[in-house]
Amino acid sequence: MATVTTRLCVVGGGPAGMMAGLLFARAGIETVVLEKHADFLRDFRGDTIHPSTLDLMDELGFTARFRALPQRRVESFSGVVDGRNYRVADFSRLPTRNRFLSFMPQWDFLDFLAGEAGRNPSFRLIRRTEAQELIAADGQVAGVRAQGPEGPVEIRSHLVLCADGRHSRMRDCAGFTPRAFGAPIDVLWFRLPRRDGDPEAAAGRFGPGRILITLDRGDAWQCAYVVPKGGDAALRAKGLPAFRNAVAEIAPFLSDRTAEIADWDAVKLLTVTVDRLTRWYRPGLLCIGDAAHAMSPVGGVGINLAIQDAVAAANILAGPLRAGPVAEAGLARVQARRMFAVRTTQALQRVIQSRVIAASLKADAPLRAPLALRILDAVPMLQVLPARLIGMGVRPEHLRVPTQA
Ligand SMILES: Cc1cc2nc3c(=O)[nH]c(=O)nc-3n(C[C@H](O)[C@H](O)[C@H](O)COP(=O)(O)OP(=O)(O)OC[C@H]3O[C@@H](n4cnc5c(N)ncnc54)[C@H](O)[C@@H]3O)c2cc1C
Repeated sequence: MATVTTRLCVVGGGPAGMMAGLLFARAGIETVVLEKHADFLRDFRGDTIHPSTLDLMDELGFTARFRALPQRRVESFSGVVDGRNYRVADFSRLPTRNRFLSFMPQWDFLDFLAGEAGRNPSFRLIRRTEAQELIAADGQVAGVRAQGPEGPVEIRSHLVLCADGRHSRMRDCAGFTPRAFGAPIDVLWFRLPRRDGDPEAAAGRFGPGRILITLDRGDAWQCAYVVPKGGDAALRAKGLPAFRNAVAEIAPFLSDRTAEIADWDAVKLLTVTVDRLTRWYRPGLLCIGDAAHAMSPVGGVGINLAIQDAVAAANILAGPLRAGPVAEAGLARVQARRMFAVRTTQALQRVIQSRVIAASLKADAPLRAPLALRILDAVPMLQVLPARLIGMGVRPEHLRVPTQA
């Protein structure tokens, strides 16, 4: 069996894993990232780059190269209730350098991070290689066994960072089971063309029994149609024409193109999960990102939290890891640092899921905008609060880990 020896083994090349790989390698830590797929090309994975991540790009000195990538800026987010527009979040008021959200295909962002990480001699991304089990030695995790294109491979490391997403296999191997909070909704993703004269801002459209989120992707609208938990099968059973009509009713400006939803294959189901681990670590192993906490899609903050976890992990662990294996106390510090943000964000998401979203899905008469929405729209200064939660998160992380020359 081939063996690779390294300081840090990151399992998973999503936002958490690629950012962690980049930051640790940049700090001079020998780092291997394992990604089971050959590329990052997976659709509907969340394409939002938040102001805190954009600021991080500046802190890393990537500004010019990052801005050169095709992306779409969004400065506000609105709620549309029964056809009336209520502005909810205004990112231009944020106390950040970058006062907007960027929409960029996630694969472009991950390719960018891989390219930047690859400039560091201590970084190695091994694709088409799936971690399958943990290696244990002297009572602690000492690496992973993986299956690559040329056969099995052992990665021996001082630390395994599990960033393998919400169905994390490494988390299972570590004996961890997340606490699930349940979610009253699922989401169907699809895309429709964007045309001249369409509304400008990204928006959540609420009508009796239906919700549609439309995100501006330049030449297309990325659309999220929210259904009650498990409602996907019933919706599909009603047939595609009924679905097209429902979309047109809630977003009349799309009615001239709903026929472009050619078949059900164009509509992808995201089963919404909200969960988190009580304990993110054991000796030699730490979970971050969705592997530690799957977020609700409310607010579209999953990528941001995953990236913030990576920054906190690098800030806290790069120094100790340079010297050798990391004490459990260091791993506990990462969890302690990030848990507050995760807990608070999930609590808010769950309130919005049950009080606003599920209530709207149950309604069978025209909706009245919730009081909070009407207040936000009437007092623009307050629109910075949701913008802050979405754009920066509860505890934004800043880079403190020095670059190793
Ligand atoms: C349909 C959908 C839409 C979403 N929309 C948004 C949005 O608009 N905004 C937002 O912020 N968030 C969104 N999210 C959530 C967001 O995508 C996640 O929160 C975020 O990607 C988590 O990052 P991660 O790196 O922790 O995990 P992931 O992105 O899941 O990455 C895990 C990586 O690990 C790899 N992997 C898994 N197992 C192994 C293994 N054993 N060995 C090697 N590699 C492995 C996977 O291939 C994957 O590349 C969405 C999620 C979904 C599913």
